[in-house]
Amino acid sequence: MAAEIETSYELFIGGKSVPGAEGGRATLLNPATNRPLATTALATASDARNAMEVADRAFRESGWAGDDGARRARTLVKLAQLLDSRLEAFTALESLNQGKPLREAKGDIAFVVRTLEYASGLADKIQGETIPVPGARFDYTVREPLGVTVHIAPWNFPLVLAIRSVAPALAAGNAVVLKPASLTPLTAIKFAQLATEAGVPAGILNVVVGSGREVGEALLQDPRGRAISFTGSVEVGHRIAELAAQRMVPATLELGGKSPVVVFADADLDRAAKAVGFGIFGNAGQMCWAGSRLIVHASVHAAFLDKVRSIAAALRLGAGTDPGVEMGPLVSAEHATRVLGYVEIARSDGGKILTGGGRPAAPELSNGNFVQPTVIDGVPGTSRSVREEIFGPVLTVSSFETTEEAIAQANATEFGLFAALWTRDVAVAHSVAQRLEAGMVTVNDPPMTFPQSPFTGFKESGLGFEQGIDAVRAYTRRKNVLVNLGGARPKK
Ligand code: NAP
Ligand code: MG
Repeated sequence: MAAEIETSYELFIGGKSVPGAEGGRATLLNPATNRPLATTALATASDARNAMEVADRAFRESGWAGDDGARRARTLVKLAQLLDSRLEAFTALESLNQGKPLREAKGDIAFVVRTLEYASGLADKIQGETIPVPGARFDYTVREPLGVTVHIAPWNFPLVLAIRSVAPALAAGNAVVLKPASLTPLTAIKFAQLATEAGVPAGILNVVVGSGREVGEALLQDPRGRAISFTGSVEVGHRIAELAAQRMVPATLELGGKSPVVVFADADLDRAAKAVGFGIFGNAGQMCWAGSRLIVHASVHAAFLDKVRSIAAALRLGAGTDPGVEMGPLVSAEHATRVLGYVEIARSDGGKILTGGGRPAAPELSNGNFVQPTVIDGVPGTSRSVREEIFGPVLTVSSFETTEEAIAQANATEFGLFAALWTRDVAVAHSVAQRLEAGMVTVNDPPMTFPQSPFTGFKESGLGFEQGIDAVRAYTRRKNVLVNLGGARPKK
């Protein structure tokens, strides 16, 4: 499969693959080996402005934004079908570039297909209201596309987190400029080519690859941008919010997390242990909503940790592209070092490492960015390893006696993206779910989402939402039209 993968990629602007204006290139490394896997054209701020200009022209001239939502719907369905027909190729490319196991990458691409189908269904249902007002007047609202929308994506679910905002923006009739993460741009570039094949007009979906600081900020500062969708870290999220405020444009911010998993004594411990493993070792823990803080009832603490530890210790590590691998490398050498730094913090703050805690010993993994699945018990809640997002396969554990204590521990964080709870007691499930300060809660399930469910974080985890029936709201504006019909309103 690797033989089919291209090794040279360009920017995608105005329906064409183009080099950057200054001819710069970046080399991407395979996270499993740190050997070069491909090069991409590297955009500068002037390429970013060019993409915005091209998008703005396409918005005004291509007819995409016209009144025929059904046409956009058909195009997005066609794009979904094309992507589905290339599922294997996109899966292989995502796995190779990002490092995740093929099985997970396949789930990602399937999610993108489903996202496109879902967004296509919204394209012809963007409508307004009529509003009763006094006198001989007629008042109504219309929902309009915004123009050019800017989308900035992270590297952990490269195509999923790009297209979950791009799809509704396109469905609503906007022109899009997408900046994927510098480490993982490949599937976004191929996706834009596919969109053209599906009939998305030239200039309606553009992809620029380049650094967040230069290219990302140039996109956000461009006067043609009318909305921003950003998924990434809290730190950069604050910067994006500042830039959005300066230009008075709306920003949807999907940021980090430090999500609790609360396991009550009556839970199905086997299912819960599997879900805990999935929630922190899936994608090597590089998930905004990783269940990274396990809070378990004291009476089942030992038994439950045994189960979680054996799941962690049994995971098969390797290159994501090797069939059967269950956990891949982290995305970069720098990131692996950062994650291991947090393990050291936990250790020196008194944490007891139950399994993992370092790099795997296998010689065939020594050049890649591998970190062992790690479970650490007894770290005090004040430790940075419990408070800050690690974004790797590292689970910290604490225990509780009372439900009040469990809720207090779960909410003792600046983040509020996700929380899971495990119990067979319906009353406990609903009452605790109500009191968890998280935008998304699962009961007896791992972190789980569908294109039809809103994805949203509270507190430092973000602003606004993606997905769901209102997904187009952030990419449209509402206009009120008041018409004086002349003369007096006839009496009924
Ligand atoms: P990041 O460093 O914030 O980068 C995200 C994107 O922003 C990248 O494309 C990056 O470009 C760009 N960027 C960086 N600085 C910028 C600036 N000053 N102006 C404009 N764009 C800028 O995040 P990451 O390291 O890729 O991803 C990990 C983070 O994302 C974690 O905190 C995770 O929790 C969060 N996340 C949140 C969600 C959610 O839905 N809530 C989902 C997934 C991930 P470069 O690649 O060039 O740096
Ligand atoms: Mg980063």
